[in-house]
Amino acid sequence: MLELVKVEKFFGSFQALHGVSLEVPAGTVTCIVGPSGSGKSTLLRTVNMLESIQGGAIFFKGELCGEEVRNGYRVPVSPAKAREQVLSFGMVFQSFNLFPNMTALQNVTLAPRTVRGLSRAEAERIGVEHLSRVGLADKRNNYPNELSGGQQQRVAIARALAMEPEVMLFDEPTSALDPELVAEVLEVIRSLANDGTTMVIVTHEMNLAAEIADQLVVMADGRIIEQGPPREVLAHPRTERGRAFFAAVN
Ligand code: ADP
Ligand code: MG
Repeated sequence: MLELVKVEKFFGSFQALHGVSLEVPAGTVTCIVGPSGSGKSTLLRTVNMLESIQGGAIFFKGELCGEEVRNGYRVPVSPAKAREQVLSFGMVFQSFNLFPNMTALQNVTLAPRTVRGLSRAEAERIGVEHLSRVGLADKRNNYPNELSGGQQQRVAIARALAMEPEVMLFDEPTSALDPELVAEVLEVIRSLANDGTTMVIVTHEMNLAAEIADQLVVMADGRIIEQGPPREVLAHPRTERGRAFFAAVN
């Protein structure tokens, strides 16, 4: 579904990703963990085309994503293709980023209406369906400031799902939440995993990773240092950095 091949990312002279290669098969869950500043968010942002890359390539369903090499030069894929690819990814951020002046349902239906061009009725049908999926159909007419942080993040998940993406990307979806609100968001993510949603999840929740990840990835200093089925990676980290990281988070 998604493949990164030796991806290099520079911010000026600072290299944030050093030859990162990763395969995400359809219907699988990849959890990415690692210390702060190790390049986890940058990795998600390159996949979502929020950041350009300076080396390597990203493939989505076998096609180059974002840019291609022509006559030795990297050129963007056609705007239409890039738009189609961008819409294949749904992203959920640490800070929920809901529009404060819109109800839950309006937040969820905005992009389906404006980007996918759905009628209001059709967008609302899909919106209510996805709000139900995260357990919030009854909050459809509430504004974000009338919702708890956990509820707001569940609306943000419904909003991403309402675009019917092929891959869901999560960047520390529970890190901004009070501890008692984390479980309800993890429950939604678990249910998506059970439904076979292809997901890449940056998280500090090692229990979640151990439970739902098909592959666990540990990053440090812009590199993948550990990678494999969570049980194996957790039981037998291959690197000293990996061992130290797991010791610190447990
Ligand atoms: P993580 O999500 O693992 O905490 P990030 O991907 O946010 O790490 O950042 C990786 C490194 O890249 C950090 O050193 C960070 O300071 C740097 N970085 C991230 N975004 C930018 C940017 N827009 N400009 C310059 N440096 C950046
Ligand atoms: Mg980050």
